[in-house]
Amino acid sequence: MSESDRRLVQTAVIGSASSGMGIVLPQEAGELRRLRRRHPAYTYWCGTQLGGCGGKLSDRLYVDKVCHFAHAPNASCHRNANGADSADHLFVKQDLALWARGSGIDARAVLRDLGSGPGDAVDLRVRDSRQRVRFQFRRLSHPEWRSAREELARDAASLDWVFGPGSAHPETVTEMYAANGCVLRFRCETQGVARHIRIRAEEARRSTDWVPLDACVMTPEGLRVPGARGLRRASRRPVVEASPVPPVAAPGPRPATGADRRPGRSTSPLVRKVQRLVDELNALAASADADVRTKAERMDREAASWIERYGRLTGPDFWSGKATKVAGQGDELARRLGKLAGTLK
Ligand SMILES: [Zn+2]
Repeated sequence: MSESDRRLVQTAVIGSASSGMGIVLPQEAGELRRLRRRHPAYTYWCGTQLGGCGGKLSDRLYVDKVCHFAHAPNASCHRNANGADSADHLFVKQDLALWARGSGIDARAVLRDLGSGPGDAVDLRVRDSRQRVRFQFRRLSHPEWRSAREELARDAASLDWVFGPGSAHPETVTEMYAANGCVLRFRCETQGVARHIRIRAEEARRSTDWVPLDACVMTPEGLRVPGARGLRRASRRPVVEASPVPPVAAPGPRPATGADRRPGRSTSPLVRKVQRLVDELNALAASADADVRTKAERMDREAASWIERYGRLTGPDFWSGKATKVAGQGDELARRLGKLAGTLK
């Protein structure tokens, strides 16, 4: 398929003009047919949260060119961005809300209109600890960034800035390197009809891998991206001691089996995933034959020791790359747990 035409409307919101549920229309006819079959009741709108006119859109299916949304005839629309990335602020907001909930963080993700539309920035505000993470979409001049930083930092215990494609001024990047040793960037990747955040830390000479939000943790000092080892600033303001958000579950007394190890409310989503898969496997294996039960018990022990290993990670491990390695082991373990459970269903 050729490069899509940026003028074609490729994103919409689902359900109503004011909806915050974004969608990227599949460009290929077969995929659009499948989407229609799966969700016959979806209605599409040129959403106000997309900076759109609020009009209803129809999904146009073409076999010989790119499928796209279309306004009703005679509609007048002045929406600025229509491309596949034009609903990214809604996807980022959604990813952040899910991640915060999964991590046990009491936080709100909000869209910020900085003068050119609702997709200029998305802010994550952690309630108790007054921490802020800004996802910057609209490009800011260096002075604009400085004054925005002043404003955001005023009542914040920690402030992280994550820049989207092309949104950071070179001078801003230089200042960030000097202050933090690195700059955080995000981009979105298409998965089906949605897009999801990938984050990495860039230092002057190297970058970490792009990782999903689930691989990152909120610590009292701010957002940690695995693998980054750059100098980390001492927080501009003292961290609020009364409301720390621990990066991982505190290791508790060792239970009889791994499955009894209940992670605390601030556990990483990956730990929760492994825990859930172990629980599921144990339930399925209970009525299986002895051979499978032995296998399941072995994996249960393996999961328990991995969870403990993850729980021992400290802040510096998230910079040295050690945390990336341990997270990778967890991913691999989750895959094997799911596979074994799959054979028992
Ligand atoms: Zn419109």
